[in-house]
Amino acid sequence: MTDFAATKAMFHIPDGITYLDGNSLGALPKAAEARARETITAEWGEMLITAWNRAKWMDLPRRIGDRIGRLIGAAPGTVVMGDTLSIKVYQALASALDLRPDRKVVLSDSGNFPTDLYMAQGLLRSLGRGHELRVVAPEEVEDAIDENVAALMLTQVDYRTGRMHDMAALTKKAHDAGALALWDLAHSAGAVPVDLAAAGADFATGCTYKYLNGGPGAPAFIYVRPDLAEDIQPALSGWLGHEAPFAFDPDYRPGRGIDRMRVGTPPVIQLAVLDAALDVWDGLDMADLRRRSIELCERFIAGVEAECEDVSLVSPRDASVRGSQVSFAFEHGYAAMQALIARGVIGDFRAPDVMRFGFTPLYIDEADVDRAVAVLAEIVATRGWDKPEFMKRSAVT
Ligand SMILES: *Cc1c(COP(=O)(O)O)cnc(C)c1O
Repeated sequence: MTDFAATKAMFHIPDGITYLDGNSLGALPKAAEARARETITAEWGEMLITAWNRAKWMDLPRRIGDRIGRLIGAAPGTVVMGDTLSIKVYQALASALDLRPDRKVVLSDSGNFPTDLYMAQGLLRSLGRGHELRVVAPEEVEDAIDENVAALMLTQVDYRTGRMHDMAALTKKAHDAGALALWDLAHSAGAVPVDLAAAGADFATGCTYKYLNGGPGAPAFIYVRPDLAEDIQPALSGWLGHEAPFAFDPDYRPGRGIDRMRVGTPPVIQLAVLDAALDVWDGLDMADLRRRSIELCERFIAGVEAECEDVSLVSPRDASVRGSQVSFAFEHGYAAMQALIARGVIGDFRAPDVMRFGFTPLYIDEADVDRAVAVLAEIVATRGWDKPEFMKRSAVT
């Protein structure tokens, strides 16, 4: 059994804070700080440019890709790091459309994160070949998969509600219709067990600053099904995705396999921080994590429903179709969240009225859940949210 008291001790959590926003920005793993310092002083400072070879900076995107691969059911050599998730979504979709040249529909759902839809819109516009982005309600996705669909592009766990799609079933449905399946794992990687290979997913993307605790600005990852990788002509054909970057050939030739999804210079310091953050996962059993995550979420739902009036559960009640977060709608949700934060319980808010709470068992325990319930109950019962300072909207909610 995974010892979650031991994983909690591996994080820096400020005194007096209950942190329920690891679904947006994971907490700081203590080891990350030392690793960042070492990378900056011992590698950059002392080795200067020779660190690309001596400290193996150039290998980081692949080596860390393999570490993440272990958490998402991807074989070694099928995941690479770089850029931001928005960019990786663009790359994956562009490749998928290339592989289905006769089809014109990209199918997604209204629960998808806006940037995924925006990137698709921009790509389809610049292709100028009459593609259509078809967005349906999450529960209508299955029936909307037909022979016109080139790519099914979904985020597995809904960022707002935590509702989780059945990746294996929808991938199979897409394949039966001749379409490719692209999965965004932003709220899945490190949150729920994922098995990309077993599901037969064609492409997957995700970020590493949420449940993987890589820190603000940590790079994204991309997975390509190994038997497809050699057929891809990358849309973002950068020099580090070239077969021989240091040949400085004027013409692009794709690198081998997943290497071709690299674009430009990797963010070395962020990758080093992420590498240290991933140590927390060594030897951790994802089934234990899932069991614990469900326990914590259920405890929170039961507590809030017993003690708070006027809030309603937005997340699925059935844990098997819910990720590692719980959302409640509340008319005064924005102000209530500011009041919670002022009392040291940090969650976040998503328009129009959703209070969102992430439960990452690595550093959340029963005492945190109980405290969050008690503080929310107090705020709702006493109208603790009803203060001018809690109404003012910040740029980041
Ligand atoms: C968090 C999130 C993003 C963020 O994309 P960035 O390019 O890293 O800013 C994209 N898609 C989904 C589904 C997300 O949850």
